[in-house]
Amino acid sequence: MKPILSCRNVIVDFSGFKALQGVDLDVQNGEVLFLIGPNGAGKTTLLDVICGKTKSTAGEIIFDDKISLTKLPEQKIVHEGIARKFQAPSIFIHLTSFENLEIAMKQQKNLVSILFAKMTNRQRDKIEAVLKKIGLYDVRDEKAGSLSHGQKQWLEIGMQLIQEPKLLLLDEPIAGMSGEERTKTGELIQEISRDCSVLVVEHDMDFVRTFSTLVIVMHEGKVLCEGTMAEIQENEEVKNVYLGRSG
Ligand code: ADP
Repeated sequence: MKPILSCRNVIVDFSGFKALQGVDLDVQNGEVLFLIGPNGAGKTTLLDVICGKTKSTAGEIIFDDKISLTKLPEQKIVHEGIARKFQAPSIFIHLTSFENLEIAMKQQKNLVSILFAKMTNRQRDKIEAVLKKIGLYDVRDEKAGSLSHGQKQWLEIGMQLIQEPKLLLLDEPIAGMSGEERTKTGELIQEISRDCSVLVVEHDMDFVRTFSTLVIVMHEGKVLCEGTMAEIQENEEVKNVYLGRSG
């Protein structure tokens, strides 16, 4: 089966500083793939370049076996089926979870017209299905501002899922969460991967260990190695550049 995403020799040069120095990486269909590595390794830059926020200097990124992303504008990349949850909040705190998802689904700027336009049963069903998936169905009519930190993060993920992406990019999804919220987030990511590949930048090794999926280690703008968490922990280069440093 062809990968959903292929990066080949991707280079990002910020005025002479190469944040990515030739990254090769594949994300398979329905896979949860973790991206780890010390600060400054280039993980966020890689997510930025996949979603079009940053343009690559050289290399190729192919999505869904045919679409070259390197020249596409950010909005077009979203349209092709790549969603990115940023760490910065994007929810409307004075609106309910349901309304936030409604806005994300309709993808329009004019809030008044969105909230007063009649909704079809199909649209309502779609929002309710996402609310159930992210565990917010019971609080769907509460203002988003009153949700817990974890619930707000799940709502942000839901606002991406409502677009039915084929690939979801997550940057440290469990940052600031309680133990219970982290467990739930892990379960949510597993569930999402039934219909959508997920590429996750994560620093928390205990969280990564709860998955039995592949992990990619980045260092100095390159992929250092790839393997299961057990394999990576035994890799001497990784011990030196990453796990050794973080203890
Ligand atoms: P990571 O996410 O692995 O911590 P980043 O992708 O954020 O790493 O950064 C990789 C390197 O690129 C770092 O040295 C960072 O300072 C540098 N960098 C990131 N963005 C820019 C930018 N816009 N201009 C110049 N350098 C940048």
